Amino acid sequence: MQIQNKELFKLDKKISEFYKLNHNFFNANANLYGKKLYYDKVKELKAEAKKINPKNEFDELILDNIESILKINNYHFDFITNPNFEYSINEFLDLIMGKGSWKFLEKTIIYRDYKMRWELTEQNRKINSKIVNRFTEDAQKLSKEFVPKLKSDILNYGKENNYLPKDFDFNIFLLPPKDGSEYSSWRPETKILNLGAYGFYHILENNKTKIKPMKAYVVGFHELLGHGSHQIYSRDLPESIKFTDEIGTITATKPITEGIATYRENEGISYLKSNAKHLELTNLDIIDVKDNLLVEYENRISDIYYGLIKERELRDKKFDSQKEILKITNNYVLANWFKNDYKRKYVDVWSQLGYVFGIVHYNNMLNQIEKNFGKKYTKENKNKINICAMKGVWSWEVYPKAVKYFLEKE
Ligand SMILES: [Zn+2]
Repeated sequence: MQIQNKELFKLDKKISEFYKLNHNFFNANANLYGKKLYYDKVKELKAEAKKINPKNEFDELILDNIESILKINNYHFDFITNPNFEYSINEFLDLIMGKGSWKFLEKTIIYRDYKMRWELTEQNRKINSKIVNRFTEDAQKLSKEFVPKLKSDILNYGKENNYLPKDFDFNIFLLPPKDGSEYSSWRPETKILNLGAYGFYHILENNKTKIKPMKAYVVGFHELLGHGSHQIYSRDLPESIKFTDEIGTITATKPITEGIATYRENEGISYLKSNAKHLELTNLDIIDVKDNLLVEYENRISDIYYGLIKERELRDKKFDSQKEILKITNNYVLANWFKNDYKRKYVDVWSQLGYVFGIVHYNNMLNQIEKNFGKKYTKENKNKINICAMKGVWSWEVYPKAVKYFLEKE
């Protein structure tokens, strides 16, 4: 799939270069020289985009995408660097993550699943009493021995579902416990999956150490069958929608890259369910991994919400965040904790946006597809939709249209 319009072809290349500048500015917002470079470049690219008149549907999508990314990124940087930003915090979030985003955060804060959290704590207490320390020889040996099985399970599932080419292979490095508390990661160029030691835990049962590999599967599905496959399916597309490290940090596209990976995590959980027997997993093991993921998700949402209202308090002296939290949650402890202990601001938490709104936009895309093609088609073509959903790294605004385009072309 290539761009026909010659001017757009050139702009596409420039945009992929711009992502590098964007990436640098993300990490150096206080650098005024960088700010000038960034805004000058955006101005130039916007003017160029305006002059282009695409003649076919694909070119139109590419141009829409470029304009959407520039627009959303500008809101993001303007908010961070400009104390007189013209929109309210709520409006700002809806502008960069889609209508209804602020309401979504608020709702999650209000209706946090306290019953589940309570039961999970109970459950974790039972597990903790049986935990075998991951530094022990027994635990490390079991983890190490499990890695080849994990690898072949993920490879087989990926190939069966067309997420990976039939001749695909990759490397897993199990991080030692000391470093393994760091996040797992996928290195596209070298096809390395760095798996955090937290992917496994170990318990003592009937005087024998047993391995619990649930999280490692979820991580493998996320990194390899999410990001890795996305990279494979977008590699023959124009530069500006190819999966690279830089594009992964763009405000407008991170909800799409993380949305795909989160969707794949859910497939990972279904995989664990169907294979519970041979992995020696109990029902409680599956509930445990699901609930832990949900708590992690809710915590990310809280973090963004808190970061944003902290920001509001800094800008609007009359606004009292403690009162606001108390008003919406009726939870005095939470409001107090926030007032006294929460120190982070939006600029510290923005990278969580993609993880929080990812699955929201993936589901939104699925709903749009169902609207366009009907229920029957959507049900019968699940895999095809999952594949077309990985063609290109798009802004969330353009994503449903892009997936529809590829489905029609297939
Ligand atoms: Zn990810």
